[in-house]
Parts: sequence; C-alpha cells; structure tokens
Amino acid sequence: MTDSLAHPLFPQNEPVKTYAPGSPERASLQLRLGAMAQEVPELPLILGGHPVRTGLMGSVAMPHEHRHLLAKAHLGGAQELLQAVDAARKAKPAWSELPWEARAAIFLKAADLLAGPWRDTLNAATMLGQSKTCHQAEIDSACELIDFLRFNVHFYRQLLEQQPQSSAGCWNRLDYRPLEGFVFAVTPFNFTAIAGNLPTAPALCGNTIVWKPASTALYSAHFLMKLLQEAGLPEGVINLVAGPGATIGEAALASPELAGIHFTGSSEVFQGLWQGVSRNLERYRCYPRLVGETGGKDFILAHPSADQEALAVAMVRGAFEYQGQKCSAASRAYIPASLWPLLRERLVPMVESIRMGDVQDFSNFMGAVIDAKAFATQREAIEEARHSTEARILVGGGCDDRQGYFVEPTILEVSRPDYPTMERELFGPILSVFVYPDDAWKETLGLVNSTSPYALTGAIFAQDRQPIEEALKTLRQAAGNIYINDKPTGAVVGQQPFGGARRSGTNDKAGSLLNLLRWVSPRTIKETFAPPKDYRYPFMA
Ligand code: NAD
Repeated sequence: MTDSLAHPLFPQNEPVKTYAPGSPERASLQLRLGAMAQEVPELPLILGGHPVRTGLMGSVAMPHEHRHLLAKAHLGGAQELLQAVDAARKAKPAWSELPWEARAAIFLKAADLLAGPWRDTLNAATMLGQSKTCHQAEIDSACELIDFLRFNVHFYRQLLEQQPQSSAGCWNRLDYRPLEGFVFAVTPFNFTAIAGNLPTAPALCGNTIVWKPASTALYSAHFLMKLLQEAGLPEGVINLVAGPGATIGEAALASPELAGIHFTGSSEVFQGLWQGVSRNLERYRCYPRLVGETGGKDFILAHPSADQEALAVAMVRGAFEYQGQKCSAASRAYIPASLWPLLRERLVPMVESIRMGDVQDFSNFMGAVIDAKAFATQREAIEEARHSTEARILVGGGCDDRQGYFVEPTILEVSRPDYPTMERELFGPILSVFVYPDDAWKETLGLVNSTSPYALTGAIFAQDRQPIEEALKTLRQAAGNIYINDKPTGAVVGQQPFGGARRSGTNDKAGSLLNLLRWVSPRTIKETFAPPKDYRYPFMA
C-alpha cells in the first residue's frame, strides 16, 4: 500500500526495428518463426485465469499457406460466456480497489516484456496467423501495442489529475470509479495492437473484462493473454472467450451486468450490437457505454497542384500494405485529369513490381488476405469490374487461392463516382480511381464528402495552400483522421489519435485520454469542514 501520485516514465513511441539483412532482430525473428511454424499448440479459453478446454475445436491456419495448421483452438459458447462474466464479477472488487499505480505497473511491465523477450513471439504469431510481413507485424503487434500500454498509463494519470475547484470551507473531489459491471471487448482480426488495447484500456481504469477475439486472430490472442499473465495480471481481470461471435455476443448482451462494449470491427456487427443493447435495455443496471470503431472507405484526393511522385507512393502504400486490410487503407482516389496520364505511368510499374507471397520470405511486400470469405469478396468485386463497362482493371486483377488466399494489388479506373467499389468497403487490395476534370475541384470535394457512408480517414494532396484549406473546410466531417500530403494509414499512438464518425464509429480515439473517459464513471465528493448549525439565513433577520 502506498500513498503517491507517482510519475511513470514519460512515454516515447517505441522505435520500429528494420529487420534489414544482417540485423540481429532479423535473425532472431526468423528463428522464432521457424520454431512456431513447427508446432501445433492447443489454445484454451482463459477464464478466471485458468485454461478451459471445451473439446469443441476450431482450426487456425496460415492465410498464405492454408493447408498448414498453426493451432487448434477450443471454442466456447453461451455457457463459457457466463463463466467469463462470473470470473469478471469475482475479480472486480480486488482489482478496482488496487492503487492505480499497481494496475498501471502490470501494463507497463507487459509493455517492457513485449519490447524485449516477447517481441519475436507476438510478431511471429501475427505474421503466421494474420499474414503480416515482418514490418507490418513490427508496427502493429510490437510498437503500436507497446505504445498503447505506455501511453494509456500516462493519459490515465492525466485524467486522475482533472479535479474540480474547491471553495473556502469545503473540499471537492472527483473519484474516477470504474463502470459497474463488466466490459465486453470484441476485437477484429487485422490488428494485434487493437486486440490488446480494447481489453487493457478499460482494465487499467479498474474494470474487469470479457474479451472475445476474432476467430481469425486466435493465435496471436493466445500469446497476448500469456504475455499479460506473465506481467502479473490477476485471475479474472481479462477473460478470453473464443467462439462464434453471434452466440457469444447474444449471451453477453443478455447479461444484466453488461456495463460497456469496446468494439472494433465492421459497421454491420457494431450496429447489431447496438440494436441488441437497445432490445435488452430494461435488463441492465446502467446504460452500457458503447464504443465502436468500425469500417471505412478511405479516400485520397489530389488537386492539380499535387506532387505526383509523393502521390503515387502514398496510393501504393496506403492501398496495398497489409493487403488493404487496414480500416484506414486508401480504397478510393480522386485524381485530376491533367495528372492522370503521367501518374498512371508511374503507378502501373510500381504496382507490378510488388512481391506477394509467404510472409516468411522477407522480400515480399504483401501476404495473403485473411480467409476464404475475404478472398471471395475481392474476387467478386474484381470479376464485376472485369465485366463492367463502367470500370477497367488498370493493373492487377489476379486471384489465386490454391496455396494461400492471394489477391494481386489491383487498381480499377471507374467512370462513375458512385461505382459500387467507390462506396462499399471491400477490405482488400483494391483501389478504385475516379478521374475528374481539373475545373471540377469544388464539385469533387462534394463527391468525396457524400459518396460513402463512412468517415474514417482521408488524404489531401496539393502543393497550393488554398485548396488544402478548402478541402479541410468542406471535408470537416468526412474523416476523423485527415492527412495532408501523406498516406491515410499509419496513425501513431500519442501523435494521431485514431477514430472516425458517421458509419465509421463513435470516434472515441483509441489510445487517448478521450477513450479512457468512456471507461470511468466519476463520482463527485463534496466535503464540508464546518457545516452550518442554524437553518436560518442572514436575510431573514
Ligand atoms: P468483424 O465485424 O467481422 O468482426 C469483429 C469482431 O466481432 C470479431 O471478434 C467477431 O468474431 C465479432 N462478431 C461477429 N459477429 C458478432 C456478433 N453478432 N456479436 C458479437 N460479436 C460478433 O470485423 P473483422 O473482419 O474482424 O475486421 C474488419 C473490420 O474491422 C473492417 O470493417 C474494418 O474497417 C474494421 N476495423 C476498424 C478499425 C477502426 O479503428 N475504425 C480498426 C480495425 C478494423
């Protein structure tokens, strides 16, 4: 027990390792990849700190080598969900009554373990299970997650410092209580960092958690849980329940103890959860906090004054890194007619030079899309374009799922600004380009703003200042994260707080103080030192 307002180390973003040929990190990661690819572990659920084996098995395969079994996962259902809620309830009093520094120390320790001895394991798990290249894994499962863990502690301390004024004779305080009940963290396949952040951010604030990871990311989720346990996370604070989303979701929403949902994934699933909460509203003790970061149809808008070289690189990196499976990935671009012929000449060879394949071969820039369903979505969109008179495949268009779910980086040139791939999230390596007449800049701003229901990220490319200001004004609500002369992906914790509005989510900015605010329920305490002893006021004399 201590009385202190300790200062943890001021957080710095974790440096990104290069994995360049001959580097020690490359040798060490390759060793770990080799070893992990040989094993086929069984992944249990973790309820109340203990492994639970249901015997109902799912298989975890490599997306880029789908016959290679990586692990067998035990799957749970409604009964295991109830066990998880029970474990979260039991763990809550001791966890929430710990001094905040004790909770923070566990997550700071997890960050240091991940920066050191656990780095290779989490990176290798993310590469093998989610088909990320070593660079994409490094910026996600190592650096971003380390940043989330360290910056959240820093922001939580800042939050605790937000205290009201006191007047003479009394002392006013805010007690940042956790929510009453459990937080249901539902995480997507595409970022190990998000899978780590959604349960740990509310846990830092004293909440206990039921965590449902994506079925296509169970492998890294397993190692994440083991890392947290090694860092000293007490039993029952975070309970991992793998299994079918709909079954687990329904059981979680039916619990009167649901206090909040911390979700990242598709807009459809989030809307379903919101509707489920509305249906069950009468059951809950409190109004559950609903935090969801969801889909995107992220744009790149070029002005005739744009720097073409920078624009081409941003389009390629923004659209195709991690196979376009970033919520922030550029998937629609608006290019002025005067720039298009030269830009096209620059883009095509660049895209043709992209190497795609097994992520264990470090010369590849892209791996496979996550599963058969994602592969089918991309193939369908490409086939539609192939047969449409309103689109043409400029480069790419090949799909091959014999060994892994490989979709070539593809650029579609579309003749209608509302062609379906300009509006619909595909979540794959397909970039649709609409070429607009140079004198239609203002109309194009309107198109960008109104074409899609999403508002997550966007990028403006221009060398002239006036169009940048115009775009910032007209597109104020069109993106929660907007970039000027930069690609729309790659937000860094502590530098570009991330999230979008409209159909892209509740914009609660993961990895910031704003997000932590959603996981506390402040209690105001007023204490009067010398209370009045006479009910009559002076004016009554
Ligand atoms: P998804 O919606 O398919 O799944 C997300 C999670 O919800 C998974 O754990 C899944 O099992 C679970 N789930 C599915 N049905 C459920 C139900 N009925 N009840 C409860 N849980 C249920 O998304 P995904 O394919 O894992 O991820 C891709 C999506 O996530 C894309 O739309 C992408 O844009 C979005 N995303 C958004 C952000 C952001 O910050 N805005 C970040 C990453 C991903």
